[in-house]
Amino acid sequence: MPERLCAFIVIFDIFIPSLNTMKLSQLTAYLETIAPLHYQEDYDNAGLIVGQPDKEITQALISLDCTEAVVDDAIANNCEVIISHHPIVFKGLKKFNGKTYVERVVEKAIRHNIALYAIHTNLDSVLDGVNARICDTLGIANRHILSPKQNILKKLVTYVPISHADQVRNALFVAGAGNIGNYTETSFNTEGSGTFKANEDATPYVGEAGVRHTENEIKIETIYPVNLESKVLMALILAHPYEEVAYDLYALTNQHQQIGSGMVGELDNPINAEDFLRLIKDRMQTGVIKHTEFTGKAIKKVAVCGGSGSFLLKQAIAAGADMFITADYKYHEFFDAEGKIIIADIGHFESEQFTQQLLQEKLQEKFPAFATRLTSVNTNPVRYFI
Ligand SMILES: [Zn+2]
Repeated sequence: MPERLCAFIVIFDIFIPSLNTMKLSQLTAYLETIAPLHYQEDYDNAGLIVGQPDKEITQALISLDCTEAVVDDAIANNCEVIISHHPIVFKGLKKFNGKTYVERVVEKAIRHNIALYAIHTNLDSVLDGVNARICDTLGIANRHILSPKQNILKKLVTYVPISHADQVRNALFVAGAGNIGNYTETSFNTEGSGTFKANEDATPYVGEAGVRHTENEIKIETIYPVNLESKVLMALILAHPYEEVAYDLYALTNQHQQIGSGMVGELDNPINAEDFLRLIKDRMQTGVIKHTEFTGKAIKKVAVCGGSGSFLLKQAIAAGADMFITADYKYHEFFDAEGKIIIADIGHFESEQFTQQLLQEKLQEKFPAFATRLTSVNTNPVRYFI
């Protein structure tokens, strides 16, 4: 083959985002860039639940829940993977004799070679996830995470000869270090001198074996989210000129302002509570909204949490929200509003239903040639008798 034609084919191949078929691992790797598994809550079981990562897939079925009817939908439509928001398995399964729907779903999926993947509280925790979609639907702008997560940031300190400081900083930033809110490439740099004495087995970048060497170095300090640790350290080792790279890692207790539970934002214009509930009922397609007494204030600031969000009431009040939209409120929990806020329970399924479209849009954008399908099954186990 002429060299030029060969080069053209190689380039062409690289720039195709995907083919109709791909490995399951390509799909899950992408989903985990949107919602890293590390961001899920301790009780959760997000990730690949059933299936081999090297399995070839041609079509994904997207659903809020993974029920038997959804597995049947996948079988009927030749989908080799089901991506659901809620994991079908939360705790260990000890028997597979079909007694519970969880066992039956898992067994049926395995028998039909269908992979099951869940993207749950990790998708609840990101800026462009479940809560952002609720805000989009209700016209809530100027958004922030309601309860930012702690313990997911770390600090890296490393010591680099001045000549290579730029190269190392750049590599760290490309690997995802140095992001704080709307700022990227953040670092703190101080100049000093480092010393080392190489032994006879070493091949030092500068200095001689057996003689203490002093080198002018830059101490670079930057932060990164823990899920990127191996990537950041690999970038450091590859970009750093020394044979033995000196670095320190510190666990931080800082909150990560872009990762966490719930979201709070503002409506463009204040609206009275009754009109806003009517708008929610219409746009979130909910049969009924359970709510606390009106406070008499117009609604401007709104907190949301898809699914069971009563644990965030204090943060919603502290954020100055006029209304808190969530689901799964218990009778006694409604008392906690105490006239400071209106709690609006819009139903668990209703609050999260548009997560399916969110996932489909993201997958279509990333893999335009890969087929995705929303389940036609209404998995909401709750019915309203009106
Ligand atoms: Zn949920």
